[in-house]
Amino acid sequence: MLLWTYFVLFACVIILLLEVTCYILVRSMLDREATESLNRIGDEASQYFAVHGPEATQRYILDFREDGMNIHLVAADGSVIIPNDEEDLDFSAELEKFNSRVQGGNSNQSIIFTYGGKLNYVAAARAGNFIIVTYSLHVAHKALGALIIYFVIVGVIAIVVSILVGYSISQKLSRGIRNISANAVKLGKGDFSVEFSNAEYKEIADLSDTLNRVRDEVKKSGDFQRELLANVSHDLKTPLTMIKAYASMVREISGDNPEKRNQHLQVIIDEADRLTALVNDVLNVSKVSSNIDALNIKVFNLTEFLYGIVDKFGYLRETQGYTLDIEADPDLYTRADEEKIGQVLYNLISNAVNYTGEDKKVFIKLNLAAEGDRIKFSVRDTGKGISEEELPEIWNRYYRSKETHSRPVKGSGLGLSIVKVVLESHKFDFGVESEIGKGSVFWVDFPAVGGETDEDLP
Ligand code: ADP
Repeated sequence: MLLWTYFVLFACVIILLLEVTCYILVRSMLDREATESLNRIGDEASQYFAVHGPEATQRYILDFREDGMNIHLVAADGSVIIPNDEEDLDFSAELEKFNSRVQGGNSNQSIIFTYGGKLNYVAAARAGNFIIVTYSLHVAHKALGALIIYFVIVGVIAIVVSILVGYSISQKLSRGIRNISANAVKLGKGDFSVEFSNAEYKEIADLSDTLNRVRDEVKKSGDFQRELLANVSHDLKTPLTMIKAYASMVREISGDNPEKRNQHLQVIIDEADRLTALVNDVLNVSKVSSNIDALNIKVFNLTEFLYGIVDKFGYLRETQGYTLDIEADPDLYTRADEEKIGQVLYNLISNAVNYTGEDKKVFIKLNLAAEGDRIKFSVRDTGKGISEEELPEIWNRYYRSKETHSRPVKGSGLGLSIVKVVLESHKFDFGVESEIGKGSVFWVDFPAVGGETDEDLP
């Protein structure tokens, strides 16, 4: 409504301005035109009288008579000489004005002034007479009056039209905005079924689209959080149940049998480790994504660092027959946050181990790119790959493929989201290529640094 009022006010001001300027312009044009013709006609009449004398001038004047414009030959006392049918007229006041303006009575001089609602041309003529031409302003102002009425009518029509148009535009606009704000309130209360729709104005349609996207993202995030809570609580429950069961067994059965007792205690220790790893992952992901930890960038030997991480999987080689094949160029240096890159490499390799095929093979590569400015890391497994639809989803926090999969390295469903946040905060390129039935390759490009350590750097 406020918008509409402004619109109408604006239209009124513009129309008024237009009318006032038109009026001023037309009036000044009319005045100028009248003065010019008065001057011309007066000069012509004076000339005529000077050349042809009174009788011819009488005819000239009678022939001339135009609407509102009259020529008179006047004696010095203001009485009319010609035309002789208007002898009762008296121009003494006009002559007085003329004389007061034209000091010295120069006979060539003519002046124009307004007096008595008329525009008067007065010029000294021969034999002490005067030529006076009058033009009744009444005629001009009557024309102007008609124009003003026309202006007012057009102005009123324009204002009525602007009121109607403004009302309909503002109604449409505010209806759209009111809808959006009502839906936003619903969304704020957690109703994700709201649909922001209003395409009458492009800006509002854009806003609706954006809000629809926000709704989808908020919903997705809510779903993910619920899923994570379900996953994490499930993953926490399993080791806790095991710990409780084995602790009871130690107390009631195996306490006296050192061999069995140790075996059961080992299960308790392993399950406690799993719990620690899970809790660490949850903490990591929230820390990394809320950027609590600033990056601690330094130059380090990526090749050695990678070997160190692969060594952590040594127990899988020995106990479960996994092969982790490494092909790495020696002494490649990069500049990054070593600890966080450690999480990235560990998560990618453990996923490859978890999802590789029956042959239990994982291939890790670390090579300097041909251009020499990048180090290409990749880890390939021989598993069943990731489908096209799933590919964009796997990097999402809390995403976990639906099927349950027994895995040698326990995951929380947070591994790839940690990888993504860490690599994005480093601005490193990374990605995945996968072929169903053949396996997946996860890759990261690290910047190559020429062997110097931080101490050598400026
Ligand atoms: P998780 O703990 O479930 O492994 P991640 O975030 O590490 O969590 O991975 C998310 C999902 O991406 C996994 O549940 C799995 O579906 C898919 N995924 C990750 N790595 C691979 C891989 N190498 N091969 C096939 N699928 C993978």
